[in-house]
Amino acid sequence: MLLDARKSEDQAKLKGGEDAVAWVKADQCIGCDQCTLVCDDNAIELYDAPLASPILNIEVNRKAEILRDSCTGCQLCVLACPTDAILMIDR
Ligand code: SF4
Ligand code: SF4
Repeated sequence: MLLDARKSEDQAKLKGGEDAVAWVKADQCIGCDQCTLVCDDNAIELYDAPLASPILNIEVNRKAEILRDSCTGCQLCVLACPTDAILMIDR
């Protein structure tokens, strides 16, 4: 119950609508693909990026990128992202 109230408060604080657009903090994105699954407007693409850690034997990681013109500011991706890597910013 407390968690539900907290989540509602967080949602109320989010910017949204036509004046807002999503933006990905690349260093927090783990390429999990959750945001692309929830985006109804095909406004998110994943691209390959070099992995920051030299101790893992993986050459690339994936990062999300917002296609600003397609983004409707609905905020679904913000709520879906497990690492809080997506913000809503002024368009
Ligand atoms: S705010 Fe909505 S339309 Fe924009 S990228 Fe996120 S899910 Fe897609
Ligand atoms: S849901 Fe978050 S962590 Fe996952 S790919 Fe999208 S922006 Fe990156």
